[in-house]
Amino acid sequence: MESYDVVIVGTGPAGLGAAFELLESRPSFNILLIDKQRVSSGGLRNDCKMNFTWPIGFPLECWDEATGKHYLERVEAFLEPHFMEKRNIEIYRKRAEKIGVQLLDVRQSHLGTDGGFKLIKDLTARLKELGAAFSFGEEMLRVEPRSRVLITDKRELQYDSLIVAPGRGGFAFLQRLMEELGIKYRDNVVDIGVRIETTEEHYPIVSDYYDPKFLFPKKTRTFCTNSRAAYVVQERYGDEKQGYWYSINGHAWSHERPPNGLVNFAILKTITLTQPLASGQDYAQMLGHLAALLGGGRPIMQRIGDFRLGKRSFANSFTGDLYNFNPSLPSCTPGDISLCIPAKTMRAIWNAMKLLDTIVPGVMHPSTIMYYPEIKLYANRPVFIDENFQVLPGIYFIGDGAGTSRGITSAWASGMRAAHGIIRLSNN
Ligand SMILES: Cc1cc2nc3c(=O)[nH]c(=O)nc-3n(C[C@H](O)[C@H](O)[C@H](O)COP(=O)(O)OP(=O)(O)OC[C@H]3O[C@@H](n4cnc5c(N)ncnc54)[C@H](O)[C@@H]3O)c2cc1C
Repeated sequence: MESYDVVIVGTGPAGLGAAFELLESRPSFNILLIDKQRVSSGGLRNDCKMNFTWPIGFPLECWDEATGKHYLERVEAFLEPHFMEKRNIEIYRKRAEKIGVQLLDVRQSHLGTDGGFKLIKDLTARLKELGAAFSFGEEMLRVEPRSRVLITDKRELQYDSLIVAPGRGGFAFLQRLMEELGIKYRDNVVDIGVRIETTEEHYPIVSDYYDPKFLFPKKTRTFCTNSRAAYVVQERYGDEKQGYWYSINGHAWSHERPPNGLVNFAILKTITLTQPLASGQDYAQMLGHLAALLGGGRPIMQRIGDFRLGKRSFANSFTGDLYNFNPSLPSCTPGDISLCIPAKTMRAIWNAMKLLDTIVPGVMHPSTIMYYPEIKLYANRPVFIDENFQVLPGIYFIGDGAGTSRGITSAWASGMRAAHGIIRLSNN
């Protein structure tokens, strides 16, 4: 059986961050990274917009300010981002403050989906040069913690330390793993919302601030703004047995691609379930299935003009002089999102939209499209046994799947922090 000092499952930013940090301190470590996909690497592939301002992307349940800032500085020093300029922020901030909205000033870089591919290639090559081994198209199935054996769909592997970083797409896998290993976890927070698509003309702030982050009342916020060559996309969840549902997302290409004049961003409301404690995943899945039911198996899109009049959208809401741009994800079903989004969530989002339209007039143009559902699962956070995200002796769970991050930079920071745990224990 092959044996490694460290096996890392998942080649997203969490896994890569851990690998680099380990090899910097322990160049002789024998490290293997596996990924079930044939191409590296998780979320770096999508848009690759990186935030370098605390606490963006850092779940406060796992990070205090001093630790988060310390790691963020190290992530920045490693990735050497090229920051985007911002203009006229004071004007927008003053408008926002007057109506009880906060505009965060976030240091951001943006590579675009194609730029992300290049970064992944570069990082993978650098890790190989440093001596790390990669195995793509190999899926972790289970682990036997006592004998420190990892079982994949291809073989059995002996490890000293195991880092599991399967990302958001690995929620169900991680949940099953925690149940098998008797690791307690919490799964009670979820973000539900819509993705807005409009023209740059109707949301001109993006030429001043690439991804403006507004915080509205009722735990509602803008999230993941894309512009210039921006597209709405869908991600599939579920399985054959229980049926599939879709969550909307968005990305943009780098400046090398021709612009399409569109902007998309999410407005999300955070929902924390308390008494009786229900699973955030189950709740999200039910909402996802409901949207799929009413959308005929596809996500739903509705023009703001129709929503305001209390009417569903039809195919002809997507033509005509008022509805003057085509959706970038035309496979969605024109319909009525208010039939499937919980009233409290819809009210918070609609209120946020109105406030946003006061700060950036134009975004509520009748042609603006709302796509539903956009669901972010941030759950399945295990009970860690140390501050380095160890869940059982020698096993670390990190990244978006384990709830230690909500973005590329914090995922990378999580990887570094787990690596430090392994290094510390290897000194003893
Ligand atoms: C469309 C989209 C756009 C996004 N845009 C941004 C953005 O612009 N900025 C930002 O900060 N964040 C963005 N995110 C979020 C960001 O991608 C995540 O926060 C980040 O990638 C999390 O890193 P991770 O390493 O935890 O997981 P991931 O990056 O998801 O990587 C997990 C990896 O583990 C692999 N894996 C899963 N299960 C197994 C298994 N059992 N065996 C082997 N391998 C497995 C997966 O194939 C995957 O490659 C976006 C996400 C999406 C989906």
